[in-house]
Amino acid sequence: MNHNTLELLDRTGPFLIEPDAVLLPEGPAPGWAVVVADGAFRAVGPAEELRRAHPHLEGVRLPGHLLMPGFIDAHHHLTQSFGSALAFGEPSEIFRRVWVPLEEALDEESAYVAAKLAALEALRGGFTTVADAGTRAGVDVDVIASAARDAGIRCVLGLVCNDADDLTDDRSEDADPAVLDRAEKHLARYEGDPLVHGSLAVSVPEAARSATLRQIAGLAAEAGATVQIHVNEHLAGVERSLLRHGLRPLEHLHDLGVLGPHLLAAHATLLTPRELTLLADTGTAVSYNPVASAWKGNAVAPALAMAERGIRFGLGTDGTRGDGFRLADAAEFAQRIAYGLASGDSSCGAGWTWLEHATRGGADAVGLRARTGTVAEGLAADFLLVDVANPELALSWDLPWELVRRGNRDQITAVFVGGRLRLWRGLPTAWDGPALVRRAAELARTTVERAPVTRTHPTSTAARTRSTAP
Ligand SMILES: [Zn+2]
Repeated sequence: MNHNTLELLDRTGPFLIEPDAVLLPEGPAPGWAVVVADGAFRAVGPAEELRRAHPHLEGVRLPGHLLMPGFIDAHHHLTQSFGSALAFGEPSEIFRRVWVPLEEALDEESAYVAAKLAALEALRGGFTTVADAGTRAGVDVDVIASAARDAGIRCVLGLVCNDADDLTDDRSEDADPAVLDRAEKHLARYEGDPLVHGSLAVSVPEAARSATLRQIAGLAAEAGATVQIHVNEHLAGVERSLLRHGLRPLEHLHDLGVLGPHLLAAHATLLTPRELTLLADTGTAVSYNPVASAWKGNAVAPALAMAERGIRFGLGTDGTRGDGFRLADAAEFAQRIAYGLASGDSSCGAGWTWLEHATRGGADAVGLRARTGTVAEGLAADFLLVDVANPELALSWDLPWELVRRGNRDQITAVFVGGRLRLWRGLPTAWDGPALVRRAAELARTTVERAPVTRTHPTSTAARTRSTAP
């Protein structure tokens, strides 16, 4: 790679970028290139053709690199980044004991820094879009929008529309008008924003009145936005819904008319065959969060069955860790352990399934199919330049499989969002990443000390002491 490659790429463009290959939905296209201008892919095709068609552009050659779409994180909580490790070893439903108290202890500065830190981790892991499921921090949600924008990541930004106490049974007939008003304003606020896309959120179905669920679903559908709801994640949640409504959470949402292409159901790990049919029939999207299942869940979403049934789904981290390659790997691995081994399915999605749902499927699930998720003419230039000349990937026989199983964030040389270089070898190009990390470490300490977090699991070291005590 030419020594001034960074200089050539760190401009507003237009660019003609010539890697070894471009990853298309159909597979890698060797010898292809892209033209990027005004934040979007203007042309995608064989390098020679593009050179002829754009003689005025100086080509930027990237030998040993694959150009691929950026990953989409279909489920994140950007303002929970100060406490990732607080959840380790904890039983399920930690949101009550850890996340809500932690988020509620954030002020404007710490919420901004937490969200920007999460965005930086995501970019380092190759995510060019994150869907935030709505913060509980008592700050204007625009603080999170600013953090995402300043970090340079695309963000589907949820506004929490809870208006019921999920532990008491709120049967109010009418939606809280203040909540609906805020929801409408939130969706209007980010119309036309190049990086931030408004979305509505309800933590769990019990956290909003039935009328509210119905009306915000209507608002989102009308605006072409998504509603994000945690659904059928834990046994406790499913049983609460059965006791209250005689229906499982997803069935309850269906009963209210809330299912549809605008709904992004987070987790959906505990699904009956009937609920799979409801998802398929209504075009509802799911965020499959395999690492969250392993770390704090009760089950693994039946993603292979969803793929087979044509159910729309993306992959989400749920804030566990921000590495797109490791997420795709976990997606495959979890299906294999939970379903593939039992049925002798040695293919388990044949590699490509997980790349597809980590990129294009994710963009579709978060409502951005027309904007991002694929390297294609007219779409936003959200892409990665991945080093494929290293010991892990150079002896290639089957690149899509290799990316799923042997890829990781160290191999990402550059991250582009909206046609702008945002990260070069893990460091932001337009702002001071290490300084942000230092500030986050200070604020995380004081915030967690202040927050009334309840944990049941000891630290790893304390657990060892306990287990080795005579
Ligand atoms: Zn979540």
